[in-house]
Amino acid sequence: MKPVGTKKAVFVDRDGTINIDHGYVGEIERFELIDHALEGLGLLGRNDFLLFLVTNQSGLERGLFTADEMKKLHEHLQKLLKPHGAQFTQFFVSPHRPETPNDVRKPSPKFLLEAAKKYGLDLSHSYMIGDKGETDIQCGINAGCKTILVRTGVGKEWENHPTIKPTRVCDNLLDAAKWILSQQ
Ligand SMILES: [Mg+2]
Repeated sequence: MKPVGTKKAVFVDRDGTINIDHGYVGEIERFELIDHALEGLGLLGRNDFLLFLVTNQSGLERGLFTADEMKKLHEHLQKLLKPHGAQFTQFFVSPHRPETPNDVRKPSPKFLLEAAKKYGLDLSHSYMIGDKGETDIQCGINAGCKTILVRTGVGKEWENHPTIKPTRVCDNLLDAAKWILSQQ
């Protein structure tokens, strides 16, 4: 894939990667951070990686929470990140159920390609981090990124998948951030 720019980015899944996946987390009250997640994001942000959140939130289409509640939750995450010297550049949210035809829900690479065009990214030197093989890792592969499976969330279940192979498997987001920096 021809790079559209030179900037490096890290695309990060949310539930099971940054926060505990309680199922359909749409409100601040149910947002519980995974250990070392903010430190990992901070490390990447302070080392000039653009950060993007890429999340499938079918709870929106199911009517379990509103877009406004989700926006408030993501603003809350930005506030938590600030002391770590990092911010997400943009939040990409797919509101669709898996069975609803659409072109943005992971493993679609649509949001990553959109970000590459908008911010001038080199996707081949960018990373997708997540805890699910069929959505996160496949999405990163589809976009031409390097991929990291984290063992938080349901990550361990995807570790030995026969066909969906991440570039690297890490214990958590901080471990993933350290590995990314070691590759530069
Ligand atoms: Mg996840």
